[in-house]
Amino acid sequence: MAKKPKTAITPTREEDYPEWYQQVVKASDLAERSPVRGCMVIKPWGYAVWENIMRSMDRMFKATGVKNAYFPLFIPLSFLEKEAQHVEGFAKECAVVTHHRLEKGPEGGLVPAGPLSEPLVVRPTSETIIGDSFSRWVSSYRDLPILINQWANVVRWEMRTRIFLRTSEFLWQEGHTAHATEAEAVVRTDMMLDVYARFVEDYLAIPVIRGRKTPLERFPGAVDTLCIEALMQDCKALQAGTSHFLGQNFARASNIRFQSAQEAEEFAWTTSWGSSTRMIGGMIMVHSDDDGLVLPPRIASAHVVLMPIYRNEADRQSVTAYVDQLAQDLRGTRYHGDNLVVEVDDRDIGGGKSWEWIRKGIPLRVEIGPRDMADDAVFVGRRDRSPKARESIPREQFIATACEILDDIQQQLFARALAFQEAHTQVIDDREAFYDYFTPKNGERPEIHGGFALSGWCGQNDCENRIKEDLKVTIRCIPFALPDGVAGQGPCICCGAPGGGRVYFAKAY
Ligand SMILES: [Zn+2]
Repeated sequence: MAKKPKTAITPTREEDYPEWYQQVVKASDLAERSPVRGCMVIKPWGYAVWENIMRSMDRMFKATGVKNAYFPLFIPLSFLEKEAQHVEGFAKECAVVTHHRLEKGPEGGLVPAGPLSEPLVVRPTSETIIGDSFSRWVSSYRDLPILINQWANVVRWEMRTRIFLRTSEFLWQEGHTAHATEAEAVVRTDMMLDVYARFVEDYLAIPVIRGRKTPLERFPGAVDTLCIEALMQDCKALQAGTSHFLGQNFARASNIRFQSAQEAEEFAWTTSWGSSTRMIGGMIMVHSDDDGLVLPPRIASAHVVLMPIYRNEADRQSVTAYVDQLAQDLRGTRYHGDNLVVEVDDRDIGGGKSWEWIRKGIPLRVEIGPRDMADDAVFVGRRDRSPKARESIPREQFIATACEILDDIQQQLFARALAFQEAHTQVIDDREAFYDYFTPKNGERPEIHGGFALSGWCGQNDCENRIKEDLKVTIRCIPFALPDGVAGQGPCICCGAPGGGRVYFAKAY
């Protein structure tokens, strides 16, 4: 038997995927559990990724005419109650504020006091509170459309949490728009899904399936929910962004009315769309390997780390000066509209340094010792390649081509993820084969099996529910497009009814 290669992360993905994920988060220094149940601390290395996501997405939103605003964290219970399906959908995971001060308890310590006449819900999402503002902002068709986004935190009281993927508090953006016509709101719903798809593919290097949710999987209160779905390395799907067409449901609930050009009183048509720090969880699970995190260059916390190597004080001084100059040159280089972010790691801790940066997923590692300096060259390792595959590159050439190398890494990561997704997508028309696909085999790690199944569905809730109960497999989306050569219809994978539309099934986070 071949000797198992040593890896920086224990266990490996193959050995224990969920634990591997936790260990990557830890070893890369992205985030940690907090003493508050279900909440996370996002550390600087992780928050920098979120900042890059925010900056890049924000530009894309604004390019479509969206403006940022901020609304209250607390939502009066009566607001949430206005839309029946909406409140029902979120009722089980609401944090509720019932008191407004603390006072000394009978046995010492502090106890809540001053009950509120109306409880306040910590926002799980903001349709109702933003709708209330819209109702005051809109009176004529000339006030429309309103295109608003907010970057905020939300709270959904989760019983089983996992860092970045499912936490009680998380960071996100939520867009809310109001329109004079149904057609315009539908166009906006599509447009924002397209922004998400482009962002996730171009920046996070994650290929996605675009489609629409089934009625059972829709956002509570929405008429239509569009989504993008990605496949993780354990063959489970992750929803990476949703865009909802809300019809006039929320406009009615919040009384968003306007006078049309024909002077008729009408309800507005609204949309909402959101994406969250969950995307970081997806990025980790799609790209990282048994040596740790792999950051796509376009959202990486930093792009290059320079590591001076020296054995004595004289070397230290000359190498450090050389490295400082190189850092300065690189930081002056523009990469997709921003400056390259360069770390210099001159800690005197020997060879462990390089491995630390591998675990942190930095795209480029550059070592520079007296010999490299004498050759006016740098020794470069790429995170998308084996830790041992490093090459010497003349310094000038490295400065001139650093951005090209980063773009190449970005493309390689996307290509790798796409190949994985394609290799784990199967057209299945036979019920037995479908159940077999989603059932772990002997000797297989129970966490890693299956993938996307492209199968027919008759459209009945019963069939969808049966598959979910039997296999924990859900319809991820009714796709807008199928891979080339895949027939648009197939027998319902549950009841066998002919001519069902083909949909994506998977186990999901
Ligand atoms: Zn059926």
